[in-house]
Amino acid sequence: MRCLVISDIHANLAAFEAVLDDAGEFDVIWCLGDMVGYGPDPNECIELLRTFPHVCVAGNHDWAVLGRLNLGDFNPDAQRASLWTRQKLTPDNRAYLESLPVSLVKEEDFTLVHGSPRQPIWEYILYPSVALPNFAHFDTHFCFVGHTHAPAIFRSSQNENGQTICESLMVPYSSLIPLGEERLIINPGSVGQPRDGDARASYIILDTEALTFEYRRIRYPVEVTQTKMDEAHLPVRLITRLSYGW
Ligand code: ZN
Repeated sequence: MRCLVISDIHANLAAFEAVLDDAGEFDVIWCLGDMVGYGPDPNECIELLRTFPHVCVAGNHDWAVLGRLNLGDFNPDAQRASLWTRQKLTPDNRAYLESLPVSLVKEEDFTLVHGSPRQPIWEYILYPSVALPNFAHFDTHFCFVGHTHAPAIFRSSQNENGQTICESLMVPYSSLIPLGEERLIINPGSVGQPRDGDARASYIILDTEALTFEYRRIRYPVEVTQTKMDEAHLPVRLITRLSYGW
């Protein structure tokens, strides 16, 4: 099975469409949450995702829009975008977000979660020291996470003393990465608001039969999204950051 693994679309339709165009054929989309928040196209992104066979888990921004999180935990720009999204969302799309699972979703030998296996909604896995304890919180071989908006691979292995260690691996682009014996936590990066200094949309194509995956980056018309955000009076900082990927 070929899976398109994506995360953090954040209501950026132009980026989502560019990824879908670039991905080629796939059997299913695995979406790691934060469909909405920040961007100008919450309904369009949810509706487009729903036209494909897919599995999607809830992210913190999805929850914030539903009123399940205290908006005081967000910075002022994120709060404004969340309140704007809340007003825009159709009842049907709101019901869709409400239906999304929060807990870990298992597909074959892969666990899907937004933040971390230990704290699915909020924890950011940015470092090996955070990834390491999280390996004990899922029972499949591999786990896909989002939330940080930065591509990352964390590998768990044993050192010569038999201790379990964790290291961060370089993220290679446009080469097939084999899935082996060692357990991995893999972040595909963000479709709609990358934060690793590269403004292009980020995603993964996974082949569950060949047991390989591939990172890809694709340019999208950032200005299309920025113009819509401007017209919607969304915060300037959120508009600007899309040009730079921060
Ligand atoms: Zn996010």
